[in-house]
Amino acid sequence: MTSAEDLADRVREGELRIHELEEHVDHDTAAAARRLLVERETGADLETIGDYAFPAERAEPNVENMIGAAQVPLGVVGPVAVSGGAADGEHYLPLATTEGALLASVNRGLSVIDAAGGADARVTKTGMTRAPVFRVDGVVEAAETVEWVGENVDALAEAAESTTSHGELLGVEPYVVGDAVYLRFAYDTKDAMGMNMATIATGEACSVVERETPASLVALSGNLCSDKKPAAVNAVEGRGRSVTADVVIPGEIVEKRLHTTPEAIAEANTRKNLIGSAKAGSLGFNAHAANVVGAAFLATGQDEAQVVEGANAITTMDVRDSDDPSDLYASISLASLEVGTVGGGTKLPTQAEALEILGVRGGGDPPGSNADALAEIVAVGALAGELSLLAALASRHLASAHEDLGR
Ligand code: NAP
Repeated sequence: MTSAEDLADRVREGELRIHELEEHVDHDTAAAARRLLVERETGADLETIGDYAFPAERAEPNVENMIGAAQVPLGVVGPVAVSGGAADGEHYLPLATTEGALLASVNRGLSVIDAAGGADARVTKTGMTRAPVFRVDGVVEAAETVEWVGENVDALAEAAESTTSHGELLGVEPYVVGDAVYLRFAYDTKDAMGMNMATIATGEACSVVERETPASLVALSGNLCSDKKPAAVNAVEGRGRSVTADVVIPGEIVEKRLHTTPEAIAEANTRKNLIGSAKAGSLGFNAHAANVVGAAFLATGQDEAQVVEGANAITTMDVRDSDDPSDLYASISLASLEVGTVGGGTKLPTQAEALEILGVRGGGDPPGSNADALAEIVAVGALAGELSLLAALASRHLASAHEDLGR
C-alpha cells in the first residue's frame, strides 16, 4: 500500500501532481502526504492542522488539495426570544471568531433584547441573482433583446427551472450599456444560498436568449449580479435575503443594563452610522454588522466571501415616546444576506452541528423556511452587536472592555 511518505516523495520528484493524490490513496492519506510535503519544504509543523475530526472525504466537495482543517474557536450567545416569520422561539446563536470581546458584546446586546421581551424579525424580500452579459450590435439590437425578454419571462422560467427541482425564477431585470445587455435574473432558491443553482439555471435560460434574440453571451456573470464585491445594486435591490430585526427597549433597561440613555445611543447612531457613513461614502450604515455576519457564516458553513454583501446593513436607533426615561427603538436591515441551510459548506460536520443548535439544519418545511429562520436569527444577532457597541460608545467604555476581554 502507498504511504504518505512515498506520495510526498513522488510529488516532490514531479512524478505526481499535488491535486492527483486522491486518485491513488484514500482522502486522509492524501492530506497527510501533502502535509509531509509542505512540512519538508517549509519547515512548518502542521500537527494541529492535521488533527481534524471528520473524514477528509466529507470535505471533498468543499476544498481541493486538502491538508487539514483551520480550527476557529466557536462560542454561543443567547438565548434570545425571536418573534420571526420563520424563526419563532428562543435561540442560541453559534459564532466562530478569533476576535476577543465579540461574543461578550453580542451576548450583552441579546440579553438586553431578551429583557425587553425579544426582537421581531422578518425576511421581506428573497432573490438570489445572476446577471449574464450579452454583446449586441448597438442600441437597436439592445432594445430588441430587452423587449423580447420582457415579453418572454415565462419561456426563460421554463428553461431555467428545468435544471432544478427547488429553484423558481422570480424575474429578469434588463440593463443596457452601449452594445452590452445585462439581464439580472432573480430566483427563489428556497433553503439553498443558491449561487450554484442560480448559475446553472441562468446558463440554460441564456441559451434561449441567444436562440431568440440577436444577443450573444459574453459571460455568464457580468458583475451586475453582484457576487462578492461591494455594490450598490445589492444594497438597493437586495440579494439573497433582505431581512430586518427590531426591538423597543424600555428606558429603564437601557439605563440599568447598558449604562447610558436612549438619547445618547440615538445620537451616537445618527452621527456615526448615518452621517459618518454618508460622509465616508460607505455602503454599510452600521457599526459592525459584518462581525456577527462573518462569525455566524463561519460557524454555519456559509460562503465567507459573501460577508461583503452581508455588510450592506442600515442601523436605526430612535427615541420613542417622551416619558422619562424614554424608550429606545432599535433596528437593523440587512439588504443582502446570502444564507442557506443546504448545499455549500452546510453539510460539513461542525457546521451542520451549528445549524442544529439553531434548529435549521437541512431543508425546511415548507422549503425556504429554514434559510429564512437562519437569516432572521443572524439579523437579531447583528442587532444585538449594534446595540452593545453603540451603547459602549455612548457610555464611553469601549476601550476598557477591549482591554479586559481581548488582551
Ligand atoms: P449547492 O450545493 O450547489 O446546491 C444545493 C442544492 O440542494 C440545490 O440545487 C437543490 O437541488 C438541493 N436542495 C435540496 N433541498 C433543498 C431545499 N430545501 N432548498 C433548496 N435546495 C435544495 O448550493 P447552492 O446554494 O446552489 O450554491 C452554494 C455554493 O455555491 C457554495 O458552495 C458557494 O461557495 C458556491 N458558489 C458558487 C458560485 C457560482 O458562480 N457557481 C458563486 C459563489 C459561490 P435542485 O436544484 O436539484 O432542486
